[in-house]
Amino acid sequence: MTKAKFGQTIVTAEHKVRPGSTFTVFHYDNGLIITDGGLAIDVRRRQRNGFVSHAHTDHIAPHEVALCTAATGCLYQLRLGSRRVIELPYRQPVDWGNLRLTAYPAGHCLGSAMLLVERDDMSLLYTGDFKLAQPLTCEPAELSAADVLIMECTFGTPRHRMPAREVICATR
Ligand SMILES: [Zn+2]
Repeated sequence: MTKAKFGQTIVTAEHKVRPGSTFTVFHYDNGLIITDGGLAIDVRRRQRNGFVSHAHTDHIAPHEVALCTAATGCLYQLRLGSRRVIELPYRQPVDWGNLRLTAYPAGHCLGSAMLLVERDDMSLLYTGDFKLAQPLTCEPAELSAADVLIMECTFGTPRHRMPAREVICATR
């Protein structure tokens, strides 16, 4: 496995998912790309096909085609204007070339989704921003098993210490 820091440009990163087989599942090109399907994942510059996990500005770009949940599609178009969107309803697999794409609730904000990418011989789960605690504004997160897990951890470093929700809600 080739290690890469997010944002670093690496043309290919091969990942041995199953013993005896080596193939490229994804690579970084200033963002995460599912190599097989030519699908950019939360890439912040225009792409031909871009999965948008949710409509926060650090996850969107004016893609030619955006794949996202219906709610994210509405928010995405409010921010960027009318655009071509392919809706990914939660838990309903959609064929994408030789891949199956399935969105699952991420528990982060309205419309937020994790993306399960499945091929006959492997699976990959990209979380986007997610929250495992009970959310107040959207469906709770649903985790799917996968061979490869890629987590978005914007505030995952120890220097980020957030107050408990009870404290925040009590101070309104
Ligand atoms: Zn977010």
